[in-house]
Amino acid sequence: MMGEKTKNRILIVEDSIFNQKILENILMDSYILETAASAREAFSILEFFAPHLILLDIILPDANGFDVLRSLGECERTKHIPVIVISGLDREKDEEKGFLLGAVDYIKKPFKKAIVKARIGTQIQIINQMRAIEEMSLRDGLTGVFNRRAFDRKMRAEWEAAYENASPLSLLMIDVDLFKCYNDTYGHPQGDMMLQAVAITIKSMLRPGVDILCRYGGEEFVVILPETELTEAVIAGEKIRLSIKALQIPSPDSGTATRATISIGAASLYPQDSGNPMELIEAADSMLYRAKEMGRNQVQYEGK
Ligand code: GH3
Ligand code: MG
Ligand code: MG
Ligand code: MG
Repeated sequence: MMGEKTKNRILIVEDSIFNQKILENILMDSYILETAASAREAFSILEFFAPHLILLDIILPDANGFDVLRSLGECERTKHIPVIVISGLDREKDEEKGFLLGAVDYIKKPFKKAIVKARIGTQIQIINQMRAIEEMSLRDGLTGVFNRRAFDRKMRAEWEAAYENASPLSLLMIDVDLFKCYNDTYGHPQGDMMLQAVAITIKSMLRPGVDILCRYGGEEFVVILPETELTEAVIAGEKIRLSIKALQIPSPDSGTATRATISIGAASLYPQDSGNPMELIEAADSMLYRAKEMGRNQVQYEGK
């Protein structure tokens, strides 16, 4: 069975206690439920409960369900939540109007267990597939870490958060040293495995749920370190550099080392506006360039 964590959440908005109980009985084993008996109660529940799906009765004591549907569609936080309208058997027009206002389906009263289950099951399946696709679109296929698209999105969000909280934001730009030579000597499949090992190793050195590792492109990775001063960022960078060296991946080039190494550019700042994070990315990038120039296998840094 699915654990509570993986269960989808549903908000039932239905004023009849009798109908509430029927729906709850049908759904409670498979979903996490909250129930509201009025529009007002529904909106107050939505303050703390983020459902994947809303079941909305059209006739409520304090509002017309269609007005609720419209309000849900206008609110930034709720507009992406699919709504199934609940309407009476004799109310064909309700179904039509519900669809026009963006409802994804309707369920008729009196409830038939199999139909309620099937219609809700279908919507939940769609929701879960959409979520899986969305998650996949943010991942790098080779290493499983976040990809460039995710980086752009997360970087903007972290910049915004750092600006609002007046906290420091740091970035590590990481590049595998002389990787072309590694590829040329051992072949691309081996090169791919090396990138996977590098990604796993960097990840293992980060604060879970806080630091964000992305594949920036090719053999370059970038780490976003929220609420992190330059000194801490440099320490994190050094730890990462040493952990990669400790993997003792053989290196064909003997210019710098007999094992594979990485170079890191670190940069840190307090965002001064809700503008764009390019400044920080460019700073880390130019420090990476400097690390390469200074002989690779090192961390170079700059703070403001
Ligand atoms: P430097 O120390 O200056 O960074 O030298 P480098 O050889 O690492 O840099 P360069 O940019 O010349 O080479 C990067 C290489 O990374 C070239 C490219 O073929 C390889 N590469 C990029 N993406 C992948 C990948 O997904 N898999 C493999 N195997 N190789 C990749
Ligand atoms: Mg009602
Ligand atoms: Mg590179
Ligand atoms: Mg490189």
